[in-house]
Amino acid sequence: MKKYAIIVAGGTGSRMKGDVPKQFMLLGGKPVILYSIEAFHEYDPSLQIIVVVHPDYIDYWNGLCLEYKIAFLVQIVPGGETRFESVKNGLGVIEDEGLVAVHDAARPVINVEFLGRLYSEALDFGNAIPGIQLNETIRAIEGDNSRQIDRSTLRVMQTPQVIKISELKQAYKQFYKPNFTDDAAVIESAGFHLHLTEGLKGNIKITHPQDIILAEVLLKMNLYSADIHHVK
Ligand code: C5P
Repeated sequence: MKKYAIIVAGGTGSRMKGDVPKQFMLLGGKPVILYSIEAFHEYDPSLQIIVVVHPDYIDYWNGLCLEYKIAFLVQIVPGGETRFESVKNGLGVIEDEGLVAVHDAARPVINVEFLGRLYSEALDFGNAIPGIQLNETIRAIEGDNSRQIDRSTLRVMQTPQVIKISELKQAYKQFYKPNFTDDAAVIESAGFHLHLTEGLKGNIKITHPQDIILAEVLLKMNLYSADIHHVK
């Protein structure tokens, strides 16, 4: 079974207020995006990695490859207006059948064991969509009122989401909808059943400046424990 990873880094990160988009910010002296690229490569050196970069940052990306000596082959594809378009562009360069993981470049805290579990479950079930339970109490706002929601029924979705290539390609023939913020939403809308699985607790999406500091700590924990989702 051929394995691919599409790492989407096509956003320009308006919430971070940095000089560069969040996926390129330095984390422990290294750009955020390199952590997940290296995790995929370490998991399986034969895995083909496609990085989707905003057209304005292609030269910047090429500079990073030289500076950080990315020795293994990473294919680069220009990003689109939305995440949906960026993933679609990445899928466009895949010709074979197999499994593809679609991963947000802004999620550096992943590990080999987590990747192995996701690809293996996707092989059995057609897809593997990680999500974690919420610890907080949740309310839905309804006009001037609000209503508590049973948090045990909710999951916060993560990436990578590993999906059978033919099914993901079929799903990406749909027209864009605003709720297509992850690939689970796209395949579900195309009629495929989602196989939800346990996510990884430290797998945060870098969104705000303080997330960089949090990610540094989480990465250190990730080094010592292959799977930190048991950390309370
Ligand atoms: O904006 P958000 O954090 O939801 O983006 C999730 C991921 O999608 C990020 O890694 C971002 O770089 C990527 N993205 C993209 N192309 C876009 C918008 C976002 O690849 N046009």
